[in-house]
Amino acid sequence: MKTQAEARRVFRALAAQYPNADTELHYRDPFELLVATILSAQTTDARVNEVTPGLFQRYPDAASLAAADEEELQAAIKPTGFFRQKARALIGMSRGLVLQHGGLVPASLEALVTLPGVGRKTANVVLAHALGVPALPVDRHVLRVSNRIGLANGDDPNLVEQQLCALLPKKQWTRASDTLILHGRRVCKPRPLCDRCCVRRDCDYYQRRP
Ligand code: SF4
Repeated sequence: MKTQAEARRVFRALAAQYPNADTELHYRDPFELLVATILSAQTTDARVNEVTPGLFQRYPDAASLAAADEEELQAAIKPTGFFRQKARALIGMSRGLVLQHGGLVPASLEALVTLPGVGRKTANVVLAHALGVPALPVDRHVLRVSNRIGLANGDDPNLVEQQLCALLPKKQWTRASDTLILHGRRVCKPRPLCDRCCVRRDCDYYQRRP
């Protein structure tokens, strides 16, 4: 496992490589990001961004989505896949917001994860990007890349989140997640492009390769 100093060097290199790292989901407020993040499961951000403009026109807030006709909602989100589960989650989540939070998205991890369809990663995405709360979302890219480099050790997202958070000051958490995600999408893919990688000298996987 990397020391804090080594981790800082890795994240400095990644930040230079991806200076504008941010979520690629389009949103205008916390509610829209919460919906978009739920829709992003098992699909690409680009596909979600194709669907959400029309969706938010039809359902601009938690109250309208809570009252949605389920079949109509399924049709609207079908291109994102798993549309029956996602429609159920969106309606349940919106009802939770209306009944428990006055229709607003709470700025608390504990409150967010009690909403239907909202796991820790989704909650952290919304906290970090739309609510200004330091958080480090761990998705499959963060898991893979952080384990390969040696920034984390394990396949439990909660544990990896703790390990990464311990290496960095709070104000760098969100940026760290965003850069690891971009690096995982573009370079450290399931089959990694190590020859193009800016952190290979600090990467355990690269150093141990045969
Ligand atoms: S050197 Fe290879 S395995 Fe290591 S982070 Fe870069 S792309 Fe991933």
